[in-house]
Amino acid sequence: MCCVVSARRDAAAERERAMTGPPNRQVLADGTVLTMNVRRELLADAAIVVKGPLIAYVGPASHVRAEPGDVRVDCRGLLLMPGLVNAHTHTAMGIYRGLAEDRPRAGWAPARYALPHLEHAQPEDYYHGALVGAVEMLMNGVTTIADRGGFMDVIAEALHASGIRAVVAHTLHDVNRPLELDRARGVLARWGTDPHARVHAGLGPHAPDTCSDALLGQVRTLARETGARIFIHCAQSHPELEAVRARGYAGAVHCLNRNGLLGPDVVAAHCLYLEPDEIALLARTGTWVAHCPASNAKIEARTAPVAAMRRAGVGLALGTDWAPTNNAMDLFDEMKVAGLLGKVAADDAAALPVPHLLGMATIDGARALGLGGVIGSLEPGKRADIVALAMDELHLHPWHDAPANLVYAAKGRDVRHVWVDGRQLVRDRRPIHVDPAALLEETARIWRRLGAGPP
Ligand SMILES: [Zn+2]
Repeated sequence: MCCVVSARRDAAAERERAMTGPPNRQVLADGTVLTMNVRRELLADAAIVVKGPLIAYVGPASHVRAEPGDVRVDCRGLLLMPGLVNAHTHTAMGIYRGLAEDRPRAGWAPARYALPHLEHAQPEDYYHGALVGAVEMLMNGVTTIADRGGFMDVIAEALHASGIRAVVAHTLHDVNRPLELDRARGVLARWGTDPHARVHAGLGPHAPDTCSDALLGQVRTLARETGARIFIHCAQSHPELEAVRARGYAGAVHCLNRNGLLGPDVVAAHCLYLEPDEIALLARTGTWVAHCPASNAKIEARTAPVAAMRRAGVGLALGTDWAPTNNAMDLFDEMKVAGLLGKVAADDAAALPVPHLLGMATIDGARALGLGGVIGSLEPGKRADIVALAMDELHLHPWHDAPANLVYAAKGRDVRHVWVDGRQLVRDRRPIHVDPAALLEETARIWRRLGAGPP
């Protein structure tokens, strides 16, 4: 561990101490509440009572009696909804935004997603990238992420310090690259796999073509031993398909199936190139798919067969993927892109209806991450991960159809307040516990050191 990283960790611990826990009882009063419960209730003149990290009450504001010590938040003109769930991202790579534009498909695959100056980056750069990326997502209303990548031992500390909820997985591969199984085990040991822990660990085999059959099998064994969920890229390029075919598989999903890596505890990202029998396999095994439409369109000029997957009963979540290929880490944008591309690809303007898209970014995303009983809807007993959006904006008026407004008209910048585990992290569109100016300064300093900073 280099000294800079340990200094960073001390700083993170300090910030964590400075982030006081949630007040005993908070009353978010007189707002409109989109619950995302099974009845998808939309409540006007409603209140949410938060006790510690949990939601204690959701219902008419008139039923809430004031108690001494209450912290009351006036939510008139605000829509309260569950925090969004980003089911596939690489937060730390945000510092590479804008360095991978308009490459041909072939420019990605052989280079294994190489980015300029990647080889010079230090662990502390990834710590900073993760912190700034997490704050960016929080400000956009994303309260939970499934994060993966290298240096996850360092990155997870930054995510924890940011206040965001995260499942963290250190990337594993063994084809033409050294396997870092000990590092992945270290992340599992440090964070555990308890879904109620705000930061907890999963397993992150990279992809069917970059992991041997032996490694995929080892991952399944480790998942069984630890209870960790499995996050993997799947069927994202032709070179990947060629590689698995050379190993005797008909496709990437078949490769995962034969190695025991399909199931309700697996989230497969992308899934662009699927045969109909592979869609059926995903549905039959209860495997989740993290759909990343903006990134897929941008670097592969393709979109996943989401309408067909939905018809087959495949569980779908939504991800931004990383900033170099999106480039916005905004799940409101992502819902819209998913809807539009899904309709085009299906040649069906009725495909992927609004409630389904909103579910992908909230309750279904939570279920994909094994957090369906913890977050994803605003209901008593769940963690208080809550986003408040400004309703009184010209581009959101009128509110004939709140879910449609959220999917097709709202943006991350409409988010005003954000709570995670009942702790307010964003107030009036400003992060409370970090200074955005200092984050920008640090990013500039990193790029000056790497010798390729923006002007
Ligand atoms: Zn990815």
